[in-house]
Order: sequence, then structure tokens, then C-alpha cells
Amino acid sequence: MSEARSDVLILGGGVIGLFCALTLLRRGASVRVIDRGEAGCGASHGNCGTLTPSHAIPLSVPGMPWRALQWMLRRDAPLYVSPRPDRERWRWLLDFARRCNLRSAEHAALVRAAILKRSWTLLPRVLVEEGIQCEYAPAGSLYVYRDRHTLEHDRPEIEWLHRLGVSAIALGGAEVEQMEPALLPGAVGGVLHADDAQLRPDLLVEGLARRVREHGGAIEPGAAVRGFRCADGRVDAVRTTRGDFSGERIVMALGAWTPQIASMLELRVPIQPGKGYSITMSRPDPCPRRALVLREPSVCVTAWGSGYRLGSTMEFSGYDERLNRTRLDALKRGAAAYLHAPVGDAVREEWWGWRPMCVDEVPLIGPVKHWNNLLLATGHGMLGVSMSAATGELVASQIAGEPPVLEATAYAPARLGL
Ligand SMILES: Cc1cc2nc3c(=O)[nH]c(=O)nc-3n(C[C@H](O)[C@H](O)[C@H](O)COP(=O)(O)OP(=O)(O)OC[C@H]3O[C@@H](n4cnc5c(N)ncnc54)[C@H](O)[C@@H]3O)c2cc1C
Repeated sequence: MSEARSDVLILGGGVIGLFCALTLLRRGASVRVIDRGEAGCGASHGNCGTLTPSHAIPLSVPGMPWRALQWMLRRDAPLYVSPRPDRERWRWLLDFARRCNLRSAEHAALVRAAILKRSWTLLPRVLVEEGIQCEYAPAGSLYVYRDRHTLEHDRPEIEWLHRLGVSAIALGGAEVEQMEPALLPGAVGGVLHADDAQLRPDLLVEGLARRVREHGGAIEPGAAVRGFRCADGRVDAVRTTRGDFSGERIVMALGAWTPQIASMLELRVPIQPGKGYSITMSRPDPCPRRALVLREPSVCVTAWGSGYRLGSTMEFSGYDERLNRTRLDALKRGAAAYLHAPVGDAVREEWWGWRPMCVDEVPLIGPVKHWNNLLLATGHGMLGVSMSAATGELVASQIAGEPPVLEATAYAPARLGL
């Protein structure tokens, strides 16, 4: 069978692969995207759909390993680490714990803020230019606290965000309740992140895939990568369940699956799947006006005109594909402590997804040292939707050999020896 060839072959049709594809097509390249399922069937489908410069500060702050150890004792905790032995997972966790210091966290926050802010500017522009309707709303997000201790613990982050150029406004309990009538009484305070926005992630990937095809790009569903044919430091062809594909350049955007496939090219990519859950329902009444983060149970609430979603939890349990009922119930229980109407009448979807958690919480974007036509675009963790447009831009400028808007070395795989 003759091989299908394009300027750029993109492995993985999630929000990252599709944004790279669309940006490259807009610049005149020929592009093909392959995915083992339908485009957008991975983590990009049922996530919370928030665009959050407010999340610039990483999880790896001092004290996090101790908190994580305490959470390990609770099966419904917002962060759960399976104690089962798994060499790769434990190596990743130790490496992550080593980075839980102020110096690493400040560096990560700086480079995360830069890509988040760039994406924040680009994404709504692309949606308008491409006519993608995905219920985008620049409505801000509101963190809600019911416990004074947590509120005081988080307070220094407001100043930290200001230093990063991200908006964060401290509110009293009464102001929070006035701003959001869907909340039960009892809020002790909150933080308004006026720059955050939201959209419906399944509609975003649907719209991106449609525009990729309309710009002349090809999307090949049901083509699972099985191996590579390589020569002279180049990846010549990608072997899939639907035959071989090749490209002048290859972009690996396989999200949490990246380490499994990259290992076939002898690349050790330090990403672990950080499993999260969501429940999508009809809109309850009263329904929140903007995205909420219910801080103590760490539940994210997103309401769109077309529906309502509770989501979150972070579980490090390897590539476990089961839907954990305890975690889904924890989302509903968390919401019930904060909202008059925590659930909608009709449940439309119960879902899990794997966040591609890179060990230093900065995405891996750019060429790798050992294969001269391969780039990575992965490891976006909790922020793939929020960083998608700027990732596409960075990949496209690197492929075109143009100076990127962002400082490319900050995201370069070379920083982790790749
Ligand atoms: C509960 C939850 C809530 C979240 N909320 C938010 C949020 O509010 N805002 C935000 O910015 N981010 C959020 N995220 C994170 C976000 O979902 C991810 O960062 C993002 O979707 C990653 O996109 P991706 O394209 O890298 O990966 P994916 O969407 O997972 O895409 C990878 C693709 O690779 C394909 N693939 C895998 N293996 C193969 C193979 N062998 N061959 C071919 N194809 C393959 C998969 O089928 C998949 O389509 C959330 C995540 C979760 C789980």
C-alpha cells in the first residue's frame, strides 16, 4: 500500500493536535491528523472547559507532598495516589516531589502564565475568524471558600498572581453570595478571576475538526499508532492500524498516551495520566452565572446555555480505565455543600479523562534532540484547553522556522533531556 504523505503529520486529534493542525493549515502547510478513535475522544471531550490564566501557579508548591500523603488515606479526596507498586509512577512522583520548592514553582508559574495569557488573547480571535460556535463566554470564574483556614492558606496566591499579571480580586463572604445567588449561605470569602473564560470543550474540538477539514486538512479516525519506521535520525513513517503515514515533520500530540508511544522511539517522556471525572447534566435552577471553583472539595462547576457540568479530582492510578463511583459521588457531595441546586434533573454523561501531567507542570512543546523531524506538543496537564491556541502558534512558528512570540526554550523538551 502506498503511504499517505503530508507536510505535517499530527499524531493525536485532541484539542492540542487539532489546534496545531488548524494553525499550520492557516499558514499554508498540508496537514494530516491521525487518531486511534474519533478526533476529540480523549481528555479534550468532557473536561470543565474553563480558560484559566488564574491557574498559572502550579501544584508543586512547598508542602504539597505532605498534603498529598494525607489525602492518600481518603478514597474520595480531591487528589488520590494509588499505593499500588508501579515503577514509572513512583519515579514520576519522587521527581515531582523534588520540585515542590519555591524556586521551581516560581519558574513554572512564570512560563505557565506566559502561555496562558498568549492563548487567552489568541483563542477567542480564532473562534471568531473560523466561525466556531462553542458557547465561549469571557465571564470570569469565582473561587468560593467556606473554611477560613483554607481562605487564609490561599491568600498569598492573590499577590503572586498579580506579580504574574493575572487578575485576582479578594471578596468577602457577603459579596460572594450577592454575586452568585445559586450559592447557599455560609461562604466566608472568595476570589474573582475576572480574566477567566469558559467554553464547551466538545463543541470546541468538533468545530476545530470541521475547520481543519474545510481548510483542506485530513483527519484519519481509527488509526492507532503501532510503531515507527526510522532511518538516519528521522522518523520516515508511522505504522498504524490503518496503514502507514508519513510527513516531512511529525508532531506527537498524544496527551497522556505520549509516554507509551514515545518509548517506541526510545524517548522517556515524564508524563503520568492524572485521571479526572465529570458529570454533565441539564441546567439546575438556580444555575451559577459563571464558572465556580468550590475550593475545599476542589469541585469545578461550569454552566453553559446547553448544560451544566461538575468536574475535577486528580487520581494517579496509572492507565486505569474504570469509572470510579466514589469519585463521581464526591463531586455531587462537594457541590451539595455549596449550591441550592447542586444537580440538574437529567444526567447526560458520566465521564473520566486522563490529564497529561508533565513532571514539571510545564507543557513539552518543540523538537526533540534525537529525531530531527519530530516535535512534541503534549504534557498540558490541567490546562490543555487554556493553552491550546498558543501551543498551535508555537508549533507552527517552529515548523516555519520563524521566531516565536513566546520564549520557546521555556517549553522545549530539551529541558528534560529529550
Ligand atoms: C476532569 C477534567 C477537567 C479538566 N478541565 C479543564 C479545564 O477546565 N480547562 C483546561 O484548560 N483543561 C482542563 N482539563 C485538561 C484538558 O482536558 C487536557 O489538558 C487536554 O484535553 C489535553 O489535550 P490533548 O490534545 O493533549 O490530549 P487528548 O485530548 O487526550 O488527545 C490525545 C489524543 O491521542 C489519541 N491517541 C492516544 N493513543 C493513540 C494512538 N496509539 N494512536 C493514535 N492516537 C492515539 C487519543 O485518542 C486522543 O484523542 C481537564 C481535564 C480533566 C480530566
